Amino acid sequence: MSKTQTIVVFSGAGMSAESGIKTFRDVDGLWENHRVEDVATPEAWLKNPNMVTKFYNERRISIIEATPNEAHFAITKLESISNVDIVTQNIDDLHERAGSTSVHHLHGNIRYSKSSGPNQEREYYRIDGFELTESDVCPEGFRLRPHVVWFGESVPAFENAAAILEKADVLIVIGTSLQVYPAAGLIDFAQNAAHKFIIDPKADILSVPDDYRRVSAKATEGMLGFFDEIKNMLSDE
Ligand code: NAD
Repeated sequence: MSKTQTIVVFSGAGMSAESGIKTFRDVDGLWENHRVEDVATPEAWLKNPNMVTKFYNERRISIIEATPNEAHFAITKLESISNVDIVTQNIDDLHERAGSTSVHHLHGNIRYSKSSGPNQEREYYRIDGFELTESDVCPEGFRLRPHVVWFGESVPAFENAAAILEKADVLIVIGTSLQVYPAAGLIDFAQNAAHKFIIDPKADILSVPDDYRRVSAKATEGMLGFFDEIKNMLSDE
């Protein structure tokens, strides 16, 4: 086994499905009974910030009440045999709560807020408890919004995430439909990875190159037994 090797995990909403958090694309184009345009776009915020705030307050409650699943813990365990970097599209903090130490959120983190003014990426504020309210403002007086990337917004963490993928010796893509761009394009940066896996119940039909091993299973099932396999794989190199 070699701690000079790096496993990169690229996770999506399916990662947290078995923790009871609904995925996005498995529910008929609606996210928790809302149209995405009404709750997850800058236009929605301009039109009705209270509704958007309420939507994310509800999501935050579900996330705080959820617990990491066996797949989150299995990924944490990989740190005993290798460097592990996680790039997640998820806005939940279940990887961190499972004990993973290097988690990079591509689309933000619902436990934080940021200014809705011009300096949005300057600082993120930890939300104590469940709620963001109308009276929560940044030091410049702009209302605070959830620290999440909405559809139609740029992805400030993309460049850093691409650099992480470039360093992968082993890539595990898990629980993502690879439909949301630019996030889905990140897998193209893992050119140096000698071993690539995609774990997803729909792995057989997801669009990845031929050198991926497709594991058609839920996250927990797919990660089961993976530890020994990866350990052997790394010790052989
Ligand atoms: P997606 O909803 O588009 O795709 C989910 C994928 O997970 C599908 O391929 C599905 O087959 C798979 N899946 C379903 N159950 C699974 C399980 N038990 N184990 C493993 N895989 C399973 O999600 P996406 O590709 O991540 O893109 C949606 C966007 O919505 C993300 O960018 C994210 O920001 C946001 N989102 C986040 C959360 C969260 O933070 N938990 C939840 C919903 C949506």
